[in-house]
Amino acid sequence: MKFEFYLPVEVLFGEGSVERVGEVAKRFGYRAIVITGRKSTKENGALERVIESLRKNGAEEVIVFDQVEPNPTDKTVNKASEIVVKEKVDYIVGLGGGSALDSAKAVSIVSSNEGYAWDYVNYPEGPRLIAFLNRPVICIPTTAGTGSEVNRYSVLSNPIRKEKLVISHSLNYPKVAIIDPTLTLSMSPRLTAITGIDALMHCLEALTNKVENPFAEELAIRAIKLIKEWLPVAVSEPENLRARTYMSYSAMLAGIAIDKKRVALIHGMEHPVSAHYPQVAHGEGLAALAPAVTDFNYKGNPDKYALFAELMGYEPKPHKAVIALQDFLERVGLRLSLKELGVEREKIERLTEDVYMLSRSLFDINPVEPDLESVKRLYELAYEGF
Ligand code: NAP
Ligand code: FE
Repeated sequence: MKFEFYLPVEVLFGEGSVERVGEVAKRFGYRAIVITGRKSTKENGALERVIESLRKNGAEEVIVFDQVEPNPTDKTVNKASEIVVKEKVDYIVGLGGGSALDSAKAVSIVSSNEGYAWDYVNYPEGPRLIAFLNRPVICIPTTAGTGSEVNRYSVLSNPIRKEKLVISHSLNYPKVAIIDPTLTLSMSPRLTAITGIDALMHCLEALTNKVENPFAEELAIRAIKLIKEWLPVAVSEPENLRARTYMSYSAMLAGIAIDKKRVALIHGMEHPVSAHYPQVAHGEGLAALAPAVTDFNYKGNPDKYALFAELMGYEPKPHKAVIALQDFLERVGLRLSLKELGVEREKIERLTEDVYMLSRSLFDINPVEPDLESVKRLYELAYEGF
């Protein structure tokens, strides 16, 4: 057995923990910026609560940057980073879904080093620049999906190049994650499903890919069981705090699992989709691709796919992973095709090339090593709905 484990994130988990942000932040200085989305944290009161807690605990300046869009862009990160530098901000609070958290973490890097956000994303040849400094980041998730609050990734889109790539760096971990499940209560059933399926896909890909890390697999296994049980409840009863709590917990476990094991072809094929179609939510793209890709993958790691099927309540046979997934997607209302999401058939060629140009570093850890022909075929299957 062989594995490595490093997780430099302090986690405060629990109902009401958002109120502790001020007390936690004190150690980082006096000048704060809160990086958040355009609407939801104002509507559900989370932003106000964070600002109040920071002020009560001695913050002298609290700047609010509320321009993070879903599938956040490098431009947004550059803009916030300029403010951070100009205003001599001591620390950064990311408040919102994965988009806000990923942006906050990237701002930490970009505001502390030379260059721009796109210099730090991971092309297969590596990033253009290596960061060597950062600023402290506190992440407060309001969705239960990405696990960004506990990992080293920031996923950014470049709308000019139509590329979506990841910053992955040990300086990109937040210092503290404050995970308060009550902040997710305001998610609609659809958003709950979309983000919950992202967490499930982190588990499935972490469990089955070729990176060796049994410890991370344990986390994924536990999270699959919880998501199977509680995501449908959270979708049908948005106010159910127990379901919300288990989903926040699962997303965190899954976020740690991918930090150690990375993802695989489902994510590798989704990123070009939301890069070309930014109106597609990450979790929707994953839902449309997952059944076809799983059908391609299961022979490469039969034991783990059989385990996945079993954890989802099906016979422990590798091929049952596909039906287990299809049925679960149906149950949470996300049995989708790429066509329904607005992807154009003529784009499949370009999406396929992009997987190769941008995500081929995932090919050799995918359960079955794909070639371009198979990627194209999988897009075609997912386009019609598999
Ligand atoms: P998101 O893009 O952060 O948010 C989607 C929408 O949900 C936004 O319109 C947001 O509104 C709204 N929202 C957020 N919290 C809400 C709440 N509590 N109640 C009501 N509405 C709420 O969604 P996400 O799925 O969490 O993050 C997706 C992004 O993370 C993608 O860019 C994806 O590629 C990335 N990602 C990162 C990782 C990682 O490891 N770092 C892993 C997977 C995916 P406002 O904008 O108005 O706030
Ligand atoms: Fe994801």
